[in-house]
Amino acid sequence: MKLRRQLLWVLIGVLLAGSLAAALGGVWVLRLAVRDNFAGRLRAETATLARWITETPATDPQRFAENAAARLGARVTLIAADGRVVADSAKDREGVRLMDNHLGRPEIQAAMRRGFGESLRLSASTNVEYFYSAHRIEGSGPVAYVRLALPAADISVVQARYAGWLSLVVIGTLLVMAAIAIFGVRAMSKPLERMSATAERIAAGDLALEAAERGPDEVRRLAGSLNRMKRTLLEQVAEAERERSLLSSVVSDMQEGLLLVGPDLRVRLCNRALREIFELPRDPAGALLAEVVRHPAVVRVIERALARGREIRESVTRFPGSGRSFDVHATPLSPELGVIVLFFDITRLERLEGVRREFVANVSHELRTPLTSIKAFVETLLGGGLEDRDNALRFLGIIAKHADRMQALIDDITDLSRIETGAVELELGSVDAAQLAREVVTQLRPQIERHGVTLENELPAPFPVWTDRRRLEQLLTNLIDNAIKFNRRGGRVTIGGTAQGRWTTLFVEDTGIGIPEGARDKIFNRFYRVDPARSREAGGTGLGLAIVKHLMWLHGGRVRVDSELGRGSRFTLEFPTANGRRAAAGRI
Ligand code: ADP
Repeated sequence: MKLRRQLLWVLIGVLLAGSLAAALGGVWVLRLAVRDNFAGRLRAETATLARWITETPATDPQRFAENAAARLGARVTLIAADGRVVADSAKDREGVRLMDNHLGRPEIQAAMRRGFGESLRLSASTNVEYFYSAHRIEGSGPVAYVRLALPAADISVVQARYAGWLSLVVIGTLLVMAAIAIFGVRAMSKPLERMSATAERIAAGDLALEAAERGPDEVRRLAGSLNRMKRTLLEQVAEAERERSLLSSVVSDMQEGLLLVGPDLRVRLCNRALREIFELPRDPAGALLAEVVRHPAVVRVIERALARGREIRESVTRFPGSGRSFDVHATPLSPELGVIVLFFDITRLERLEGVRREFVANVSHELRTPLTSIKAFVETLLGGGLEDRDNALRFLGIIAKHADRMQALIDDITDLSRIETGAVELELGSVDAAQLAREVVTQLRPQIERHGVTLENELPAPFPVWTDRRRLEQLLTNLIDNAIKFNRRGGRVTIGGTAQGRWTTLFVEDTGIGIPEGARDKIFNRFYRVDPARSREAGGTGLGLAIVKHLMWLHGGRVRVDSELGRGSRFTLEFPTANGRRAAAGRI
């Protein structure tokens, strides 16, 4: 029920009850007052009449009574001392004679005792209710008591008239008060109703609304509290929204695949990375896990985490389609939320692990051959081979050659790993490549002569290259050494270069055996050789070009190969100039 109506009912109830009580009380008081008024008048008239009779005793009591009754408008009865009725205005003389003895009447009894008496009762003589007032007359006249009587109906008529007026006044007052109550209640409840409507609209989501802070103190305070509450709510909603969007952007942008699976094995949430992993065209929220993740091993991990209530971690390799591998971590949340699953991409790690295994296998393979040889020759020497001095010297020579090969291999591995891990820092400066190439050729002179090749240094002197002198020497040595090794007798090796814009290029060209097309990319991989036997025979480690490739990357440059099988190859080193390096750094 509305507060306004409730208040109205209470007020009208109070008004009705009050008015009724006032009316009843008023009528009661009124009746008493009217009766007292009549009684007082009757008493005074009786006393006057008594005095009159004492002073001038009536010769004809009956006529006296009738006259007095006509004047006073009341019944007049005169009674002798023995109770006999002497006269009565309500009777004729005959009727008077027949009347009872009145000595026993209550008002006469009272008048006898204390000179005055009253009573309201039914008249035995007339059978009408009267209000009696009696007075004793002193002296020894024929009349001892004078009695006046008024019909009770006369009093009632007056009482009823006054009561009618009173009721009208009460009803009028009630109506005026009810009108005041209606207006008052409306005025009081209006601000509350307005605020309740505002509160309802706010609760329904219209948070821009403000409750009007006017009206009585309490209502104003209530409106103020409502507005403050709403602002706090707005701040909390905004904060929650900020946190939600932060969380959702973290979840959506994270590299790891994320999946939330409910206890009913339905997908509740998944991020972009996970959709990519499972190649899902749209958001799979609500779909069954088995429909989304078509990889039984992953489903099993999630089911186990759900069943056991603890985290399960497992590596799941070679996903269908992509062939990628993942570490799957399934962590149960609360029983209602289900399991949160994270997919860490370990494809690269796996590949690296494969590379590492392959590298270790290659190194041991590379070391095993010379080591087996060395062991065999040492055993031969120990088993009596030392006797034959010539042979022993030859064997020791071979042992030394294999030891050199092992040394070269270990040096190259160490060097390569230092370059790859960034342990090598270039001491860059302008280096005259023409001069350096001459020095390298001098060092390689024995090989040149052994292989019967001619060498041409076409580099204009000076030919400045922005590089690390020691590393450029290493680069040239590797390339020229290969150009000699994989050449044919009588072949040619040419060293040249150009400087163009931001790049300086050096090349080493040979007229050797060339490189088959399919192998041109692979020759820069560690331990890759087109002809392993020939390479080993020539003392190669299979790491020279890998070192060249990494050193060029370190320079911010690169190495290129052009080759024609059976006709020769050209290896080109592209160095950024000092300006080129600065420009590249600026871009980063
Ligand atoms: P290594 O020379 O010790 O064998 P490299 O890494 O220097 O190792 O070279 C890898 C392989 O590339 C060689 O084994 C060879 O097959 C091929 N190669 C390198 N340089 C030349 C070249 N100038 N002509 C033909 N083949 C070459």
